[in-house]
Amino acid sequence: MFNKRVKIKELLTWQAQDQQVTVMGWVKTFRNNQFIALNDGSTNTNLQVVVELGKFDENLLKRVSTGASLKVEGTLVASLGKGQSVELKANKLEVLGDADPEKFPLQPKEHSLEFLREIAHLRFRTNTFGSIFRVRHALAFAIHKFFNEKGFVYMQTPVITASDAEGAGEMFKVTTLPFDKTPRNEDGTVNFKEDFFGKATNLTVSGQLEGELAAMAFAEIYTFGPTFRAENSNTTRHLAEFWMIEPEMAFYDLEDNMNLAEEFIKYIIKYAMDNNREDLEFLAQRLQKEESKLPQDQRSSMSLIEKLSFVVNNQFERITYTEAIEILLNSPAYKKKKFQYDVKWGIDMQSEHERYLVEKHFKKPVIVTNYPAEIKAFYMRQNEDGKTVAAMDILAPGIGEIVGGSQREERLEKLEARMKSMHIPTEEMWWYLDTRRFGSVPHAGFGLGFERMVLFVTGMTNIRDVIAFPRTPKNAEF
Ligand code: ATP
Ligand code: MN
Repeated sequence: MFNKRVKIKELLTWQAQDQQVTVMGWVKTFRNNQFIALNDGSTNTNLQVVVELGKFDENLLKRVSTGASLKVEGTLVASLGKGQSVELKANKLEVLGDADPEKFPLQPKEHSLEFLREIAHLRFRTNTFGSIFRVRHALAFAIHKFFNEKGFVYMQTPVITASDAEGAGEMFKVTTLPFDKTPRNEDGTVNFKEDFFGKATNLTVSGQLEGELAAMAFAEIYTFGPTFRAENSNTTRHLAEFWMIEPEMAFYDLEDNMNLAEEFIKYIIKYAMDNNREDLEFLAQRLQKEESKLPQDQRSSMSLIEKLSFVVNNQFERITYTEAIEILLNSPAYKKKKFQYDVKWGIDMQSEHERYLVEKHFKKPVIVTNYPAEIKAFYMRQNEDGKTVAAMDILAPGIGEIVGGSQREERLEKLEARMKSMHIPTEEMWWYLDTRRFGSVPHAGFGLGFERMVLFVTGMTNIRDVIAFPRTPKNAEF
């Protein structure tokens, strides 16, 4: 029976009273043929298993090497050693799976993140990735908890979609047509009538449009699922497959939308701080060590924990796009020509601009509203000025854009006119426009990139390190 095992995290909270317990896990280190540091993924703190000299067969002990898996039955005793209050005196020791020390790539020393990406199937066993993925789990749980407490309905929107009008990014095609002998129309184009769905389909870039449909009945819904963008941008903030949370709310305007997004972000960060203290402290130390290699002026002024508390306890700055451009134009960075990309009203702000606003100017998360219509999607509500739309992006220190949202255009004529001017086929989007025909209401929503949130909370700097098996250009291993 395997389920008698006690998790190490729990065991470490017990008082030693000679209890007989069974633990299972993987060997981190084995010192002096006597002390096994055992880890089972429940915490970074290892359990010290003490092997009495002479008690076990030498051949068995030889198999206790870094990476091997063990089942240990023993007696929980007070520890005399430093750093732990209890340890397990082994009575029975079983190697469940060997790990040839000549071949096992993880050694009890520090490995580079680049190297660990190449062995992503094993990197969960390191302290860094143990902490990251426990925090990722906590954030995911907190997201559902937050919306559930507010009475939102969790919608699962389709992964395969036929709408190609979202304009959120390049799409991956989904097809069962053969690459050779592709069926063609007379004009030479691909005949998708012969395809699986009888039309061209792709992987979703966002669940928003379908989310809006549901919000027109349940009033408040959210999605939390994978999205796909074939954008060939090899940055530290873009994945080809990432997870997005997209709440969509009827009877919300832009301000309600901002309030919800801010409350939401604070809630999930606080949840991780309250429930994953040990992991966050570990990650804070890791970050500090990492930053100590940088010149003084590139180091953070706050520790990771301080930064998170700061975000939880302070109001986000709220400015309009027009004000943001003013700030950039008046910045020393602009005057000294430090920006690579030009600044003027109408630009789609580059990450260097966003980071200037949050990291240098405001030194806190910033919500930028009312962007030029030209650079935003068709569904955003048109403002009275005829130039801007009721959009809001939330920019976070170290990350740049973490949330993109807007009040949606609920007025049928305005929406249709905008779609026509953007050459979006209104006939194909009949189902979307129907919600504006039948009981349309003011509504709003936003999308939070889950991995960007995990980056922010863990203090990691490359998005490839906060998703288990990253998909990026030229990389789909594992
Ligand atoms: P960016 O300008 O950073 O590419 P975007 O404007 O394309 O972002 P949206 O379409 O508004 O982003 O998507 C909503 C959210 O999804 C973003 O705020 C971001 O957090 C996240 N996101 C967007 N693209 C990616 C990606 N390729 N990988 C990971 N997260 C992403
Ligand atoms: Mn993008």
